[in-house]
Amino acid sequence: MKHMTEEELIAYREGVADQGALISKHLAACEECRTELERIEAVLAALDTLPVPDPGVDYGRRMWLDGGGTCGRSHAGSRRRA
Ligand SMILES: [Zn+2]
Repeated sequence: MKHMTEEELIAYREGVADQGALISKHLAACEECRTELERIEAVLAALDTLPVPDPGVDYGRRMWLDGGGTCGRSHAGSRRRA
């Protein structure tokens, strides 16, 4: 049995594999390729979460600014005409 290549498994995961049905049939029968697909998914999932280090810093600053904003808004609210 010919095993799936990493490229084929990645294409299959992205839903762009030319032989999606063939690959899914192979995966159903081949634990080795299922394990490989899981490994690839773990790597890609880790990569997906990588480009988000900045929002942590920005989030903290926004929380601080929002606190001041809420204070200002509540003063404005108490000033509103009836
Ligand atoms: Zn296989």
